[in-house]
Formats: sequence, structure tokens, C-alpha cells
Amino acid sequence: MQRLIEGHRKFRAEVFPQRKDEFHLLAESQAPEWLFITCSDSRIVPDLILGTGPGDLFISRSIGNVVPTSMGDVDGVTATIEYAVDVLRVKHVIVCGHSDCGALKAAVNRQGLEKLPKASRWLQHVEAAFSNRQPPDEADGAHAELYSLIRGNVVGQLLNLKAQPSVGRAMREGRLEVHGWYYDILSGRIERFDEESRRFVPLLG
Ligand SMILES: [Zn+2]
Repeated sequence: MQRLIEGHRKFRAEVFPQRKDEFHLLAESQAPEWLFITCSDSRIVPDLILGTGPGDLFISRSIGNVVPTSMGDVDGVTATIEYAVDVLRVKHVIVCGHSDCGALKAAVNRQGLEKLPKASRWLQHVEAAFSNRQPPDEADGAHAELYSLIRGNVVGQLLNLKAQPSVGRAMREGRLEVHGWYYDILSGRIERFDEESRRFVPLLG
């Protein structure tokens, strides 16, 4: 814990005083433009890879960057989507998967899941990855099969996202766009799913 406490001490002493005005502006309201749905994986640091900061991204994280369809009861991700779209009125929702995702590895080999009843049930939502599997990318080398499935999961979750009532409504009203991204940890590159070609292409042209 000491590392976190020291980190906060540094924030209070060095970062906060410099950015005090920014934090004061944000103290009583927020108006983020983007809802960012990604994996809980510690290696995804949205503000670092997107150059964003306080007040910019509304974030929902869960293992496998899942957007559940129907579980019969409420879950954190769909409640967050509804709030972001209907109350905060974000303009974009981004579903972002990533290389070396443990959730997809577990979904493939199913090892150890019998001891994890909650995670196991949650990961049923990544089944959509199999029917939306993307063509393997040679650049992924030995991981090509797994990573084609991880990209497939992004496409599957994007479909689940569009099926959310609040999202469908906002898209029909022309006030919301949805995007599927894949982040490669090794190279730091982001790919986006191109709806026309149905392929992942580099985000940076
Ligand atoms: Zn992951």
C-alpha cells in the first residue's frame, strides 16, 4: 500500500497545485464526450494512450470488455451505458479490446474456470467472439489465432452495444456514434473496426 500512499502524496504536493483550476471547474459537473468500454486489464491506461485527462472519458471496465445482452437482471456495464447515453449524452461509445487478453484466453481453454463461478458466467458473454472471429493477422505471429478472436470479441460486443435500447435510440436520433477498437500492448498501436470493409484498420490512417 505504501507505493499508493506515496503516489498520492506526490499528487497532492506536485500535480494538484498545478492543475487546481482544472479540478475546480470539474468539481461540480462533468460533460464527457466519450464512453470508453474496455477490459479491466492493468496494462490499458486510457488517459495515457489517448492523451485525455480528468473530465474527458466516462469509463466502464470489466474482464473481457463485455457488453452483456440479457442476464435477466441489471449489471454494471449496461447501467453505465444507459446513464452515459441518456443522462450525460456522450457523443461516442468506444469498445476497446486488447492483445494478450486473459478473458479471451480463458474463454478458449476454459482452464480453471470451474473454480470461478462468477467469472465463468460473465465470460459467457464473450461467446460472440467465436461467430465474429476476424482473419488472422500475420503480424501477430504465434498469437494470430487468439488475437483474431480478441478482435472478433470487439465486433461481437459492438453488436451487443447497438442492441442496448438507449444506444439504438440515440443512434437513430443521430446523436451517437459507436466504435470498435483493438489496442496492441506490444506496439502501442490502436486499430479501429471499419464497418464498410468489416476489417480492422490502423486508427492512424
Ligand atoms: Zn483483457
